[in-house]
Amino acid sequence: AQATSETRKRVLLAKPRGYCAGVDRAVQTVEEALKLYGAPIYVRKQIVHNKHVVSTLERQGAIFVEENEEVPEGSIVIFSAHGVAPEVYEQARERSLKAIDATCPLVTKVHHEARRFAAEDYDILLIGHEGHEEVIGTAGEAPAHIQLVDGPEGADKVTVRDPAKVVWLSQTTLSVDETMETVARLKQRLPLLQSPPSDDICYATQNRQHVVKEIAAECDVVIVVGSRNSSNSVRLVEVALDAGARAGHLVDYAHEIDDAWLAGATTVGVTSGASVPDELVMQVLDHLAARGFTDVAEVTTADERLTFSLPQELKRDMKAAA
Ligand code: SF4
Repeated sequence: AQATSETRKRVLLAKPRGYCAGVDRAVQTVEEALKLYGAPIYVRKQIVHNKHVVSTLERQGAIFVEENEEVPEGSIVIFSAHGVAPEVYEQARERSLKAIDATCPLVTKVHHEARRFAAEDYDILLIGHEGHEEVIGTAGEAPAHIQLVDGPEGADKVTVRDPAKVVWLSQTTLSVDETMETVARLKQRLPLLQSPPSDDICYATQNRQHVVKEIAAECDVVIVVGSRNSSNSVRLVEVALDAGARAGHLVDYAHEIDDAWLAGATTVGVTSGASVPDELVMQVLDHLAARGFTDVAEVTTADERLTFSLPQELKRDMKAAA
């Protein structure tokens, strides 16, 4: 009986998982800047929300700071993938910093939407998580016009000047289903609420949630590789549980997997957030294989080909140095 249950142990590996185009570009920006200008390179906030990526770049000579004030005058500073408010560029100019902006172009798109609707004097309801860097950056584009709506419960607290001139925008890494719930609740009170011109929740967030939903119901446990402060990674655990996984856990590294999670399990789902290098997922597969989960089936629901070119200011310097 032992042998039979051993042979049935399997892993469903989600695809797409891991690095999105915005993270890939942000990490490359720091690596190329280190090569071009030499260490140290200052980075405002974690370049992407992943412990392993940050510590790897630190070893290569990146110094992570919370604010521009910690960067010596005249140095190079890179802004993280999550985007910054306009005042942060202003502070950088005041300190004569050379700023390289690694904001994901899909976050920049939401900033443009915020500016445009604010210029047309709309009330903007920004659905997102309070305190998240991306939300702080987007809200900073038009503080007088933007109200944060943190989840469906937040919808009831909103007050607007003109119910016929209201639009909702969102953070890029939210749960698609929960956001739709929030919008439905807002629309009960504000039937004329307008939607963003195109999806604010980005393709990578949507694709990673979609595939985890496909596999969740078959899984005794879903392991999501990602850091606690990574919004899209945390959402993947929630989505897996909502979609029928019997348990779900977030880990930065394979060694954090508790053997108790695997006790009695025959199918383990594995995926990773958009800021996670795939080597960490491969280490999880090795860890699982050592515990009898040797049969790995990759479940693919989308083919991602999007890439973004490096920030202009960096590309110019790279070209000049070539
Ligand atoms: Fe850009 Fe989406 Fe990746 Fe965030 S998760 S960096 S918005 S592609």
